[in-house]
Amino acid sequence: MKKHDQDFMKRQNRLTVFEMIKNHHPISRASIAKRTGMSPTTVSRIVGELTEQGYLLNSEQVSAGLGRKSTLLGMVNASVLAVGVELDRTRMSIGVVDLQGNMVCSGKYPRVPEESAEQTLMHIGAAMEELVQQHTIDRTRIVGIGVGLPGIVDNEKGVVLFSVQLGWRNVALAEQLKELTGFEIAVDNELKVKALAEQLKGAAVGSSCTALLGFGNGVGSALILDGEIYRGVMNSAGEIGHTTVDPNGTMCECGKTGCLQTYINISSLLAEANRIRPVGTIEELFEARQAGERWAVQLIERALIYMAITINNVVCMYNPDSVILSGELIDKFPDICDEVEQLYFSRFVWEPLRASFAFRRSMLSEEGVMIGSGLLSQNRFFALA
Ligand SMILES: [Zn+2]
Repeated sequence: MKKHDQDFMKRQNRLTVFEMIKNHHPISRASIAKRTGMSPTTVSRIVGELTEQGYLLNSEQVSAGLGRKSTLLGMVNASVLAVGVELDRTRMSIGVVDLQGNMVCSGKYPRVPEESAEQTLMHIGAAMEELVQQHTIDRTRIVGIGVGLPGIVDNEKGVVLFSVQLGWRNVALAEQLKELTGFEIAVDNELKVKALAEQLKGAAVGSSCTALLGFGNGVGSALILDGEIYRGVMNSAGEIGHTTVDPNGTMCECGKTGCLQTYINISSLLAEANRIRPVGTIEELFEARQAGERWAVQLIERALIYMAITINNVVCMYNPDSVILSGELIDKFPDICDEVEQLYFSRFVWEPLRASFAFRRSMLSEEGVMIGSGLLSQNRFFALA
């Protein structure tokens, strides 16, 4: 084996052991060896290294039955911290996340939609420093910054290829933010990191195939397979918002007609509503529906039907064990989940698959992207360390 390959194997093994303890602690060395298929010697060596570096807690425990003592391993949650950032058109959210994805502290900051990428990154750097100082976070424990945003992201190079919401094209985010802050930067699509967070800490804990759907200013999805983000060749797997539903439909912001998201997302719903009467916000539209205005009832019913259709298509395509609904529409109007399930599942979700998946609302809601971005940054750190 070449030196380079050996190093790679070592890093992979280290990460595997680390993840195993993180996800299944308290756990014994023997159990790690059994579950990972690694030799007990390799496991012991890695555990020794991680303990020395302050990541692990060792505790003696007498196992039931045999009365034999075994050492169980746990995590020191605060031994590793990462900063998780969510970027949106008009807002930035920044949080400090520990090893288990717990939010240590967080803050929300406005973003001017017209500002340049450079200005946004400067603001992130300044806000992060302020947050860290305000909460007296030990800066030496921060292993990196993760950024989640809407758009197509080259996650390996850390480049935002295209984001309609941010108005960015080919922004070398990782490189620029690293220069500003000195930290290692991980960048990814927001729904991908959110799905990662839900699978580790939220509504899909224990799931081995999670599909997360986002209904908000856009429509998208993400798939987590055995704890890993499914990416496709250019990290754009899951962009279902631009699947074509009606070739004769209305124009989408992407330049095509009849994309799925034109029936569901907030701006499309508002654009349709304004053909009837002036409606400024999505809340107003839902109030009109509540008041029984027929056009509003129909417009939202159509959106819910397309949500059910989306769920059916995703379930048919991937056969997930969990489907999680998230996004601004779901956060603001949580009853949507029950309505879609009760009113439209029997009509639109294929019968043999109807009971094959758990259907839930996002548990982490507004914190999901920050937590997922922080965890992504930590994963990157452990893979490289
Ligand atoms: Zn489109």
